[in-house]
Amino acid sequence: MALYMQISHILKRLRKDFQLSIITLMGVLGIIAIAPYAIYRFSIGNAIVGGADSIVVLSTIVAVHYAWRTGDTVKPGIFLCFILSSTCTLIAINLGINGLFWIYPMILFNFFMVSPTKALIATASVLSILVAYQRLHPQGIFESDYQMMSFLVTSLMAGMVSFIFAYRTNDQRIQLQLLASQDPLTGASNRRCMNDELNIAAANLRRHGISYGVLVMDLDHFKKINDNHGHHVGDQVLIDFVNIIKAASRKEDRLFRFGGEEFLLLLPNTKKHGLQSAARHLHQQVSLNLKSPSGAVTVSIGGAIQRPDERWQEMLQRADERLYLAKSTGRNCIVIEDDVKTPERLSII
Ligand code: GH3
Ligand code: MG
Ligand code: MG
Repeated sequence: MALYMQISHILKRLRKDFQLSIITLMGVLGIIAIAPYAIYRFSIGNAIVGGADSIVVLSTIVAVHYAWRTGDTVKPGIFLCFILSSTCTLIAINLGINGLFWIYPMILFNFFMVSPTKALIATASVLSILVAYQRLHPQGIFESDYQMMSFLVTSLMAGMVSFIFAYRTNDQRIQLQLLASQDPLTGASNRRCMNDELNIAAANLRRHGISYGVLVMDLDHFKKINDNHGHHVGDQVLIDFVNIIKAASRKEDRLFRFGGEEFLLLLPNTKKHGLQSAARHLHQQVSLNLKSPSGAVTVSIGGAIQRPDERWQEMLQRADERLYLAKSTGRNCIVIEDDVKTPERLSII
């Protein structure tokens, strides 16, 4: 059962993270396809190429391990791109024509592992080094200039096609990520994103003791704005509200649209006093700046700090209860619990 859970967790991560799956594929190919070559090269006495093959195999294992452990695929991608490009260059110089066949898969892999511009730079560098070496040692790699030109043209074609493809898919992936994580009306992050971020914040508290809090904010009598002035005016108030909160909160705070006119602000690295002063500041900024054609629009805020011994869902429920309390005691106010078990109404403005 535990093994089944582990396998399904691995498959889920591979499905969700394209970059991780490419680096993992690289690792598997590195072991299956390159390790036998390394053994073969050593066995026929070619220590340079055998050593280069071994470096690729070991580097891919290190990079794959790092990517799985940290979730960071950017650094291992750059590292692998560098290792792959330099070892392929070394192999081409050492083996001549026979080593050049590795350049084509190298070009493809680089475009999958790093950004299109970085991959283009890596490809151009490898080709330039090979040409410069050939100039210094005629017949060192290629038998003739014609052969070198054919190789350059075909590998540049492979590089350009890969560049256009990678550039397009990169662009589409960013668009898709935005669509999947953002509320289209206000540009605040959506609920799915909120769950991911809360999981990360909870893990940071567990592992590193970094405390955090949340503020749940709900506009007061918002339905009346829609009823009196139409849905489009209500929409504009929501957009203005998000802009006010974003401008008044810290860079590291994350705003999510939680429901229709309900938002959640996640404040990393925050204790009770920080949460209180942030809530007061945000409440004041909304009171001063948020307007509808009927006048000022107000907000009620409920807040909670994550306790080390609970799930974030429980903390969210407590924040929601504080919001409910703020609503039931007249709206346009803040209720934040105390750290101790008995929640205390700290501030009603
Ligand atoms: P309270 O002070 O108790 O929070 O009252 P309220 O009127 O703000 O809350 P209620 O839950 O009764 O109404 C929320 C309204 O928000 C109802 C719904 O039509 C509206 N709403 C939800 N999403 C949107 C949206 O995207 N745009 C607009 N214009 N209105 C929305
Ligand atoms: Mg409301
Ligand atoms: Mg509401």
